[in-house]
Amino acid sequence: MTQTIMSILDDAVQGNLKAVIERISRAALAVSRDPSNVHLLAVSKTFGAEVVLAAARAGQQSFGENYVQEAVDKIARARALAPELPLQWHFIGPIQSNKTRPIAEHFDWVHSVDRLKVAQRLSEQRPAERGDLDVLLQVNVSGEASKSGGAPADVVPLAKAVAALPRLRLRGLMAIPEPTEHSAAQRAAFRALRVALEQVRLALPKAPLDTLSMGMSADLEAAIAEGSTLVRVGTAIFGARATVKGPT
Ligand SMILES: *Cc1c(COP(=O)(O)O)cnc(C)c1O
Repeated sequence: MTQTIMSILDDAVQGNLKAVIERISRAALAVSRDPSNVHLLAVSKTFGAEVVLAAARAGQQSFGENYVQEAVDKIARARALAPELPLQWHFIGPIQSNKTRPIAEHFDWVHSVDRLKVAQRLSEQRPAERGDLDVLLQVNVSGEASKSGGAPADVVPLAKAVAALPRLRLRGLMAIPEPTEHSAAQRAAFRALRVALEQVRLALPKAPLDTLSMGMSADLEAAIAEGSTLVRVGTAIFGARATVKGPT
């Protein structure tokens, strides 16, 4: 009997997930950290609901998405196909302020809040019955080299303003450093985000600031060495993305 397409997909995704989880464990243990303190977000952008469900059947629960309309469709389809699987959805892409409503309505977390206007709109538009929306502030730790994220010097004032908004729960910071193959440079950028979180913690001692979202397929080891609590991994789980889509 030949395998069904579904079981072939499940086997491939399951094997990749297992390898990524082993990488996370090794990286944590190498710096004497408890691997269970590093969460894995599976970045499923450009892949369909069937691929998400293959990962979910292998035990993965949290998924990251970059494009609003693609994600809203996928969330609905995954729920229709497998209502029994408890999936958690994280928005990690750039946010246009006129696209905040579907994000506030459909997501559990948002990693890419980079200005107060976006946070205010998410706060106003979060449906009360969905509970507080967990948010991270995206910080540009690479200076001019990268355009997304707020400037490190603005993080503390932005964090204070966001922490005061209803229906949002500020959980920490996120960064996408400029790609580099040099592990010392990778670590310096991740260290800058960790230092920024320490400053936010000093300014907001009562906020539940437990999350440093940093590290992707190519640099998760450096991120974990610098204190990442959440790595966002796409390619190493799902394979190369076929198309590069613009923001929607
Ligand atoms: C696409 C994306 C990822 C995943 O990147 P990979 O290199 O495929 O692991 C992580 N974070 C963000 C913000 C992304 O846009």
